[in-house]
Amino acid sequence: MPDATTDAALRTFVEVPADSHFPIQNLPYGVFAPYHGAAPRVGVAIGEQVLDLSVLEEKRLFEDRRLRAQRPFSHASLNPFMAMGREVWRAARQTISYLLRHDTPTLRDDEALRREAFHPISAVRLLLPVEIGDYTDFYSSKEHATNVGTMFRGAENALQPNWLHLPVGYHGRASSVIVSGEAVRRPCGQVKPDDGPPRYAASRLLDFELEMGFFVGPGNPLGEPIAIGDTEKHIFGLVLVNDWSARDIQKWEYVPLGPFLGKSFATTISPWVVPLDALDPFRLAGPAQDPEPLSYLRGIAPCAYNVHLEVGLQTPQLEAPHVICRSNLRNLYWSMCQQLAHHTVNGCNMRPGDLLASGTISGPTEDSYGSLLELTWRGTKPLTLPSGEQRKFIEDGDRVVMTGWAEGDGYRIGFGEAAAEVLPAHCDS
Ligand code: CA
Repeated sequence: MPDATTDAALRTFVEVPADSHFPIQNLPYGVFAPYHGAAPRVGVAIGEQVLDLSVLEEKRLFEDRRLRAQRPFSHASLNPFMAMGREVWRAARQTISYLLRHDTPTLRDDEALRREAFHPISAVRLLLPVEIGDYTDFYSSKEHATNVGTMFRGAENALQPNWLHLPVGYHGRASSVIVSGEAVRRPCGQVKPDDGPPRYAASRLLDFELEMGFFVGPGNPLGEPIAIGDTEKHIFGLVLVNDWSARDIQKWEYVPLGPFLGKSFATTISPWVVPLDALDPFRLAGPAQDPEPLSYLRGIAPCAYNVHLEVGLQTPQLEAPHVICRSNLRNLYWSMCQQLAHHTVNGCNMRPGDLLASGTISGPTEDSYGSLLELTWRGTKPLTLPSGEQRKFIEDGDRVVMTGWAEGDGYRIGFGEAAAEVLPAHCDS
């Protein structure tokens, strides 16, 4: 289903640096306020600019009658647009791509319109792009599940008996999903030393989890599962996700119902939602699955994507983030399509704006592990940074920066950053 918007030969009249994450083939959606006090609206990133889609809407530059009637870009979230479905998403993308082409004069030759419609990304405030009703986190990397299982149960029983048969997940907390740039406060909670009773304290084992997530639209009515062959119609686009995790709180609380307060204090996402259509040229088959999944989880076109991922750690002594992990979205054992089919197989309804995250994306090599838990093997192998500092887990003042991109022929479909600094805990009570 490749379309003209991903053509490697496309050029735009907007200046796009060679290493930009946002060439004309990407066109990721975000929500921004152009100046203090301005109403938030939807834009797309192009080079180092954001194009204000509410202005295009106002000038009636979208030809699609549904876009004209509903004006989904003059909203403070992407939800109304995500509810409209893939046909409308495609129509919008085609118009935006056309208007940004080097040979389309509409914006290129109208200086007043350009001044109104474009803002430097560095000058606007990027907001959480979606009103997230529900957030689910899967556990779909076999390498990650094997590493964690090995640490806690030994190599013999690393994977639980269900793991190869279904995409394991849990319901996360939507209210604490925050956009890149917002600081994360180290959480307080119950921790239990091995040799003593539980106590109330600041988490000492704060960690990141390198993940990607996708936003659902339009979704399904309660009681009507999304068939595996229809799942792509409901995947709007992808973001980077840092599922912050307090390992000491998690370790004490997780039996028998799974993650709770060790996860729900914060989840950071990148501000730009990359449309699934922009990633189509990077689609590939995922890993072979053995045993063969049940029929409701199989029989689809390839649903894995080749997206290079990196995690950088910046301490107060480092001038720039130091890359401590290189992984790839293609490492996932369970695909996004399988996650969505499984999530709805019981009739559970998805709504526009629901966020489904992948779980930690670890690869096969030690430098591709997507959490400090794995990179330092529970703190037994501390990382040494270029400053000479060592890290087992995240310390106050540290900044975690996730980034990712699909490498095209002469361009990159990038995700920007999901970055946040960790602030000291406030545990007095
Ligand atoms: Ca996770």
